[in-house]
Amino acid sequence: MKTTYRNIIMLFTIIALLAADKPFAGKSPVDHKRFSFDYDIYTSIDQLSQEDALLLREARKATKIAYAPYSHFHVGAFARLTNGKTIAGSNQENAIYPVGICAERVLLSAASSVYPNVPVETIAVSYYNEKGSNNSPISPCGVCRQSLVETETQFKHPIRLILGGMDGKVYIIPNATSLLPLDF
Ligand SMILES: [Zn+2]
Repeated sequence: MKTTYRNIIMLFTIIALLAADKPFAGKSPVDHKRFSFDYDIYTSIDQLSQEDALLLREARKATKIAYAPYSHFHVGAFARLTNGKTIAGSNQENAIYPVGICAERVLLSAASSVYPNVPVETIAVSYYNEKGSNNSPISPCGVCRQSLVETETQFKHPIRLILGGMDGKVYIIPNATSLLPLDF
């Protein structure tokens, strides 16, 4: 009797283990991939090179030219192109919310209009949030990531991103493609 009881317990244990291993009993994938990317974190703008610090300072200034009466979230972007020229962008909102444009895409459009066929080398992005804190890095939304990746592809040139707030940590990301695996 004792042996039978032990056998039943063992049988249930085996069934439980098998079920846990293959919860849906689906087919095995043909491959498995993992995505990761490298980026640098700095404690403040003071740790950046002079050139990068200048871009981030200008991005912070560009928040002042944002038109953000709805979100009260003012985003500034500032880029250096490979020809050494610089250009600013800021978010431009609209009462019809989807009509509004993010700072990064305003910047990319301005850059390709003013300096056609010149790759963008680095973009710094910052923000001023009227209703919250401003001391952690901001990162581009999904739509802007797609737009940045398209620009990288168009010019066959990576776009470095310097992401910060009004103070605090700064992220430097080597290219926009890192932020959008399996882009369209
Ligand atoms: Zn965006």
